Amino acid sequence: VLWYKSAMQSGGLAGVLGAPGMERAREVLRGVFGHEDFIGRQAEVVGEALGGRDVLAIMPTGGGKSLCYQIPAIVREGTGVVVSPLIALMKDQVDSLLQNGVKAGFMNSTQTAKQYAEVRAKFDGGELDLLYVSPERLLTESSLQMLHSRADKLALFAIDEAHCISQWGHDFRREYLQLGKLAAEFPNVPRLALTATADEKTRREIVGKLRMTNAKQILASFDRPNIRYAVRLKTLGSVKKQFLEFYRNNHDGESGIVYCMSRKNTEKAAEFLEEHGIRALPYHAGMNKGEREKCQDAFTREEGVVVCATIAFGMGIDKPDVRFVAHFDLPKNVEGYYQETGRAGRDGLPSDAVLYYGAGDVRFIRDLIEQSDASETVKNRERGKLNELINICETVKCRRAAILACLGEVYNAPCDNCDNCITPPEQWDATTEVQKFLSCVARTGERFGAGYVVDVLRGRDDERIARFGHDKVSTFGIGADVPKMEWHSLARQLIAAEKVAVEGEYGVLKLNEESWKILKGGEKVFLRKNPSRREKRERAPTRERAEVADLNEAQLALYDEIREERNQLAKAQNIMPYNIFNNKTAKDLAVKIPRTEAAFAAIDGIGERKASRYFRKFSPLLERAGGAS
Ligand code: ADP
Ligand code: ZN
Repeated sequence: VLWYKSAMQSGGLAGVLGAPGMERAREVLRGVFGHEDFIGRQAEVVGEALGGRDVLAIMPTGGGKSLCYQIPAIVREGTGVVVSPLIALMKDQVDSLLQNGVKAGFMNSTQTAKQYAEVRAKFDGGELDLLYVSPERLLTESSLQMLHSRADKLALFAIDEAHCISQWGHDFRREYLQLGKLAAEFPNVPRLALTATADEKTRREIVGKLRMTNAKQILASFDRPNIRYAVRLKTLGSVKKQFLEFYRNNHDGESGIVYCMSRKNTEKAAEFLEEHGIRALPYHAGMNKGEREKCQDAFTREEGVVVCATIAFGMGIDKPDVRFVAHFDLPKNVEGYYQETGRAGRDGLPSDAVLYYGAGDVRFIRDLIEQSDASETVKNRERGKLNELINICETVKCRRAAILACLGEVYNAPCDNCDNCITPPEQWDATTEVQKFLSCVARTGERFGAGYVVDVLRGRDDERIARFGHDKVSTFGIGADVPKMEWHSLARQLIAAEKVAVEGEYGVLKLNEESWKILKGGEKVFLRKNPSRREKRERAPTRERAEVADLNEAQLALYDEIREERNQLAKAQNIMPYNIFNNKTAKDLAVKIPRTEAAFAAIDGIGERKASRYFRKFSPLLERAGGAS
């Protein structure tokens, strides 16, 4: 957010904005795609590409990467070649472009010989602005020859999902390694690499292996303002029930993803939701390809489907109206969490990311780390990543700021769109209890985890405690008045705030400098108060059907009618509804109720082509609604 603004002010952009073709690029943005202005750092990426330079663009999912190469491909002479590993999405992307009147085609293994020949003829005839190709197809001798025959008519190469070149990430594609040879084969064609993976190591790998070390790197803000982040403590009952209440209150009838750690849990979660009348499907790597495709298909085509998935479900989900992403288990690290939650709200409408969190999850992940065969260096890094997650869960401050901080971005809190900003958690002066806890850690010799320390504090009658003689220490039983749950919450918060250190396999607590400050009485400690069960319900902010919470009844009715009409039109053309326009556009239509074709074209997401093609289809609906208002 802010750093993007300051980059604009620092003047680095002035040259780019005046770049040749930029004026034309804006015309295309408005006329063809129907958007008023560039967002984030799109303008810079477009400017570089128009100037014929290589670029590595890093933007979050839903950040608008497609336009970054589509517009230069249209403005520059010749065809832009887009390499994408997601074969299933190529038709979809081409369908969207065709709807806007852009000349586009694709080449991959799903095509018949006839379809291929048609696209080939168009390419040879110079009739394509954009050609999508799978990497394996691009690297065949015949494709390279085809490109060489028009090498002076290639507008650019766009390498989408460029992180697939990283052997360390789990999206690795072997064919991507060979894309580096495009540099030598087509030295005069600018290349754009695009990805949503922001870490430094991956970035270095991309520019190295693609041989584009001179490329300008443009790193956009990763903030996704329309996603509302929340963390809920798992209650003793079931997380499934907690979620059901959340779903009914906020997203009844809407689509979303529930992430679970294990295959079995995805199945159990889906079953539970089905029992409660929600269309829910499991998805995990143990299912065969056909089953997985069926699930993915239902999710993208139908409305109101909840997929309960392991992380296997992800890349290749381009559905714009995923209204929520829920985590039933703690994710492995913040990067993964952010990628997963990023699948919500690509259309820019209000969406939720809710994470259910319990002490058991922390223990489980800690065990995974300790039991792995990784080196101590790797384990240490993993421990650090787990602590980052715990910190996000335990913080009393803005969650968005905490998350973005882990991604290396400074965000000026409050965001007003996370649980802590909306309802600041109540805090209490826990200094005395924290002192009791820390001195118990000291009295038991800094050799035990939180569970044991709490047992001693609560004076538990326990064989182990007796054996170590800890039933004789001065802190034995001094915390019997505080419930076990509260002690554990206190321990987690101390760990998150690094007021006590955790070490090794068993999560042994050790006092650190901060602990001693508190023990010496030099510092007060305020902790988050855990709401009681009843309070919890009242506190959780709800919005019925978050996507449209701000519409009145008449607008809502029109919105539903518009979507229905759109869905019909899409079906008749065998394309996805959002190829025509997404829900954000539908919402804009329902609010602004345009009565003329010009007004229709002024809606975000409707370019000239769509206006002339669809205005008449929608005008009866709009007339009726407009007349009534
Ligand atoms: P990514 O590929 O980075 O995940 P997309 O290219 O699919 O993101 O774009 C995400 C959404 O943002 C799309 O719905 C798109 O229409 C919208 N969008 C992109 N650029 C703009 C813009 N300049 N103005 C308004 N909406 C935009
Ligand atoms: Zn916030």
